[in-house]
Amino acid sequence: VDVHGAPIIGIDEKLKGIVLVFHDITELKKLEQARKDFVANVSHELRTPVTSLKGFTETLLDGAMEDENLRKRFLTIIANESERLEGLIVDLLELSKIEGAKFQLNWQHVTLESVVDEVFIILKNKAEAKKMRLERKVIGSTCIEGDPHRIKQILINLVNNAIVYSPEGGRINVRVKEQTETVILEVEDTGIGINKKEIPRVFERFYRVDRARSRNSGGTGLGLAIVKHLAEAHHAKISVESEVGRGTNFRLMFYKKRQSELEE
Ligand code: ADP
Repeated sequence: VDVHGAPIIGIDEKLKGIVLVFHDITELKKLEQARKDFVANVSHELRTPVTSLKGFTETLLDGAMEDENLRKRFLTIIANESERLEGLIVDLLELSKIEGAKFQLNWQHVTLESVVDEVFIILKNKAEAKKMRLERKVIGSTCIEGDPHRIKQILINLVNNAIVYSPEGGRINVRVKEQTETVILEVEDTGIGINKKEIPRVFERFYRVDRARSRNSGGTGLGLAIVKHLAEAHHAKISVESEVGRGTNFRLMFYKKRQSELEE
């Protein structure tokens, strides 16, 4: 609590009382702390790959370059780390754009079924490399109002996570189901699952259940934060059901009509 005080002086110049103003700054403090945490996280996340890039280049320059095997191994690490750094920067810029005041969706008619097809084409190879099957089930008409590019981005993140956080040979089921006023989009995997306690936290920036695993699989820890923002921009509700060792189901409920129109 922030407190300001001022004396009340009468015409006889005697002290008549004191005015105290109590200002609840809990929310402000929380925001300030969140901002500080974010800056600290970003710095850490950026520094890690840079440290590794510096270390491996120096070792190469110090003589490791002479050894053909070491040279290949270190250059591969350098290439991978550069790619991770690039991914991190792209995701950070994307998040700051989406969170910015000027961000707007490009509202159009979107057929969710077609978005699923496009995303499957993009991630087919990645799924095949892990011997995973991508399956799709559509019930009813899947036409909604939304931003096709952004919905595709949401779905790429969810299906990509389903592939990354599943053992080889798993199955991914994407279901699109029409309801009276909404269309449900579900991405279900047979993967490692998420502990109940962790579920609300996975949407936080940089939160990962297993840091090492996520890093190794090329994750930035920002994917679900981006998904949450984009879903909110669509007024879509997002929920997660999961069981450790069995799998996870991410569920989005899109309104068929743009919400602002319904409110009018
Ligand atoms: P990352 O780049 O680490 O994948 P995300 O924001 O996409 O970042 O996800 C945050 C964390 O949520 C992941 O690190 C992982 O621990 C967990 N997670 C996300 N999707 C799944 C899933 N389908 N199955 C299990 N865990 C998941």
